[in-house]
Amino acid sequence: MKHQGDLKEELRKLRQENLRLADENQRILRQRDETTRIFRDLFDKTPHIAVQGYSRQRKLIYWNRYCEELYGYSKDEVLGQTWEELFIPEEMRQSAAKKIDTWVEQGDIMPAIEVVRRHKDGSQVPVYSQHVLVHAGHGGKEIYCLDIDLRELKRSEDLLEKTLILSVTDPLTGLYNRGYYNQTVVNEMHRAHRDGKVLVYAMLDLDYFKKYNDTYGHLKGDELLIRLATLLKNHLARAGDYVFRMGGEEFLVLYAIDDPTDVPLMMNNLLMAIEDMNIDHRKNQPYGRVTSSAGVYLHRPEENLSADDLYSRADRALYAAKAQGRNCCVFFHEMTTV
Ligand code: GH3
Ligand code: MG
Ligand code: MG
Repeated sequence: MKHQGDLKEELRKLRQENLRLADENQRILRQRDETTRIFRDLFDKTPHIAVQGYSRQRKLIYWNRYCEELYGYSKDEVLGQTWEELFIPEEMRQSAAKKIDTWVEQGDIMPAIEVVRRHKDGSQVPVYSQHVLVHAGHGGKEIYCLDIDLRELKRSEDLLEKTLILSVTDPLTGLYNRGYYNQTVVNEMHRAHRDGKVLVYAMLDLDYFKKYNDTYGHLKGDELLIRLATLLKNHLARAGDYVFRMGGEEFLVLYAIDDPTDVPLMMNNLLMAIEDMNIDHRKNQPYGRVTSSAGVYLHRPEENLSADDLYSRADRALYAAKAQGRNCCVFFHEMTTV
């Protein structure tokens, strides 16, 4: 049996140990609170990343400050809502929730994805979204979602795309411009060569366009160029067909073909379609309406000419078409054999 003095001593030590443990516990709790505070503060002050936390039941428990900016809802408006209520259209909520549950159960890594979410005002918010599963202290699981704001990036991409399109486009007609022709022609020649195809290189030029301007005015002339461009686009709308406005009223058509037998028919149809627009041009006699002439060079895959060679041969054929009375098409090959 222990002596009473020993027991007192033991009790004193136990109390002391107890106090030490309580102190330690306090210290750990303070440290944890401090760590939590630092992380929340960090998340709150992080720009461009919207951080949300959800319970295992997908109910919102955390909403950082940038979420308010990105999605337009204040923390109070959304706390307690489920993930799917917040972000998923009604008809897809059930399946989306099921997907998240399966993922949480299996503990797999959910791949980051680019998605478009909806702002409170209805506008679209593109984000790069990553879901992370976090093991909470009490043995439960929490889901954290980090959405990186892509709005600025998308705006720059859109602007870049628009600028690129503008840089290759003729502003009056919307056709490709001469600069784009310079960038494209050699590649298309190589492609046709590799594929063993004939490259159709056709130059079109309106007949007596200067007189058209003089008769009907420059604005009407512009209108005619736009109508002609639309007609050419409609006739040459397959992938790999190109129509360029080379300048003034001169257009270049470029496409590759296995068998060029039908090209004369196609060119004939094109010139007929222009005539069939039936646009008055009284100074263009004997037709009395708008017509065009064309010069064509058919570049065979075994030939190895330069783009300038093609241009000058088609141009010579066009000149011959003008000399033959206009509203017709001349093929360079026929011209040299005649
Ligand atoms: P040809 O039948 O021999 O081709 O005669 P043409 O009068 O069509 O040929 P020319 O090259 O002498 O005249 C081209 C005219 O195109 C001269 C210019 O005033 C006009 N032009 C060039 N660019 C534009 C434009 O953007 N808008 C308008 N309305 N006219 C233009
Ligand atoms: Mg002309
Ligand atoms: Mg001309």
